[in-house]
Order: sequence, then structure tokens, then C-alpha cells
Amino acid sequence: VFASAEYIPPDAIFEVTKGFLADSDPRKVNVGAGTYRDENGKPWVLPSVRMAKEIVANCGHEYLPIAGLKTFRDKAAELVFHDTKAWSEGRVATCQSLSGTGALHLAGLALKKANPTLKTALITEPTWSNHDLLFSSLGFEVIKLPYYKTGAFDFPSYMAALRAAPSGSVIVLHSCAHNPTGCDPSKEQWKEIATVIAEKSMFPVFDSAYLGFNSGNVDEDAWAIRYFIEELKMEASVCLSFAKSMGLYGERIGLVTFSTGSQDTARVMNSILENVQRATVSTPPVYGAQIAGAVLNTPEIAKQWAQDLITMSSRVQSTRRKLYEELLRLGTPGDWSHIVKQSGMFGYTGISPAQIKELQLKYHIYMADTSRISIAGLNESNVEYFAQAMDHVVRT
Ligand code: PMP
Repeated sequence: VFASAEYIPPDAIFEVTKGFLADSDPRKVNVGAGTYRDENGKPWVLPSVRMAKEIVANCGHEYLPIAGLKTFRDKAAELVFHDTKAWSEGRVATCQSLSGTGALHLAGLALKKANPTLKTALITEPTWSNHDLLFSSLGFEVIKLPYYKTGAFDFPSYMAALRAAPSGSVIVLHSCAHNPTGCDPSKEQWKEIATVIAEKSMFPVFDSAYLGFNSGNVDEDAWAIRYFIEELKMEASVCLSFAKSMGLYGERIGLVTFSTGSQDTARVMNSILENVQRATVSTPPVYGAQIAGAVLNTPEIAKQWAQDLITMSSRVQSTRRKLYEELLRLGTPGDWSHIVKQSGMFGYTGISPAQIKELQLKYHIYMADTSRISIAGLNESNVEYFAQAMDHVVRT
């Protein structure tokens, strides 16, 4: 059976964390994995999540329904859609998922089942390292649209590739905080992108792993989604993750949604989502859903969560500034202004593979081989060390 099986190399970003954990040097820095760290470099259990955990401590271990915890699904969908007609008219299908990855997976499965003629999926180049694998594993032909050039979103190249891409494609859009570049389209650019997507009858899948985490405000981060759905009245999928926004990484709590044209279509898509969920995970995990549900449904905890989002996003923003100022102070060759222009958890440094290797071997600094750094891995006590190391490798 296994004679022709071929070894598949491990996922690169998980290897970076493995290397970091195995390193015993006290100066080591992990800017690889996209996980939030507090000012002491430690994982942060959000105060809102602590409050929610007290409420759900005795929630038990029974199976959830196939589509997940209803009180969680409704409130999580409301976060995104609350002021849209699609929501008030009952045109949104929802299903609890295994975090953002599971949401994308269910979206892809459900789209294939709903419409077997869907063949191509458009992603950006670069993008989150799992998009290509995920959509090609579902049988989509994946096409990459160029996205980034020297510190910024390459709008002209992206638009040219979008116009040339096959009509009727599924298109994956980062709602905000584009991973890995940290460069989002402006509102004007979003409008042009949306017009072409509508003209070409493409189906948008909004990968929304950072809603609220990016700016500290869910509504602001969901602007593009609502523009497509409310202004252009387009059908779309929104794939939510509460890994970053609630720090519930390992609980695998997310939501897949389809905003559709009618209540009947929403009913059909709900049935298809249940069907593909049943075939893959049967029923989703209960604990993360209970926690996220309690955060969203308990007014005083929801208020605390709003504050927690601001705490996380403002720490990331101020760390960006510190890193930039430090590089300026050192006179590090090159233009580093993109570090403060980019948003979200990541910064795209643009340094070479040799420089990345030197950072690791000489300075015990671990980052993705794309040169992406997770700003949240930096803090008061290591940002100067990190900037000095960058300065050294850039000069050599
Ligand atoms: N999409 C993007 C763009 C991401 O950055 C991530 C997390 N790194 C995800 C989806 C999915 O993450 P999770 O499955 O942990 O929610």
C-alpha cells in the first residue's frame, strides 16, 4: 500500500517554532508564529476570556448539534452582519467550524457541493501559507494573483491579473491585515476590486482571521465585507476565526457563513453546511464555542472584550513604531517606513534568505522564510536587540 507514498516536508512555520523551542539561548526571539504575546513575551489569556471561563466551567461534555452552538453562531454572525439587509432578512447561513482553517475548508466543500462547476480559486501571491494547500486539496485549480511590491500593495499588477483571471472563480480575500504583507487595499481600491469581481461573476470568500484584532474595532475591520454585501448586494462567504481575536488558538473556534440572495438559498446552504460538517468532523468541539458564546452574549464580558481588542491592537501598533524608530536611530541602511505603514500582526521586512539564516544562527532570532515577522513577538525588552541584529545582518 505504501510503496509509492512520498514523504511530504513539514509545514515551514511550525518548524520555525520547533527550532525556537529547542534553542536554549536566553536572548532568543520568536517572530515566526502569528500568535499574540503580551509585553513580557508571554501568551495572553484575555480578561474577557477569563470571565467567560468562569461562566462555562460546568458546561459539560455533551455533543453539540452538527452546525454547532446556536447562541454562539448567531452572535458571531451578528458581529459581522448586524447592520446588513442580508442579516435582517434572514439570508445568512452559518455553521460552527474548526477555527478559521476549518471555516475555509467548510466553505470550499460547501461551494463545491452547491455548484460543481466551480473550478478555480484565486489567492494572492504571497498569502497565508495554507491557502494554496487548502484549496488545491479540495480540488480547486489555484491561481495566484501578484499582490506585493517593495513595501506596498501592488494594486496595478493585482488588478491586471484579476481582470485576466477566469470568470466564475472563487476568490479568497483577506478582509483586513493581509497575511503576510500587512498591506491592505484602501477603500477606493476595494471598490475597484469589488467592481471587477462582480463583473466577472466571481464568488468572494472573505478570510477573516483578524476581525477586531487589526484596528481594535470589528466594524472597521469588516468594512470591505459589508461593502460587497450591502452596497453591491453580492453573495459571499465570510470565514471567521476567534484564534487571534479572543486568543483561543488551540480551542479551534470559528464560523463559516454564506450571505446569500434569499432565505430559501440560506436554508439550502445551511443544509449543505451541515452535510459537509457531518462528513468531516461530525459535530464541532464544545468548549471554545461555550467560551466565545459567553463572551459575545454577556454584555459586561462583551464590553471587556472590546477593551481587550484595543489592548492587543495598540500594543502591536506601538511596537511597530518602536522597531521603526530603533532602525532609524541606528541608521540601518534601507527604507523601513513600510513597518509603520503595514497593519495587523505581521511585518514584511524584505530581507534575504541568507540574512534570515544569519539572524537565526548568530542572534537566535526565528522568523518565517518569507521574511515575515510577527510584531507581537517583540516587546520593550527585546525590540532593541532585534533591531540591532537586523542592523548587523543588513550591513553585512
Ligand atoms: N487565514 C489567515 C490569513 C491566517 O493568518 C490564519 C491564521 N494564521 C488563518 C486563516 C487560520 O487560523 P486558525 O485556523 O488558527 O483560525
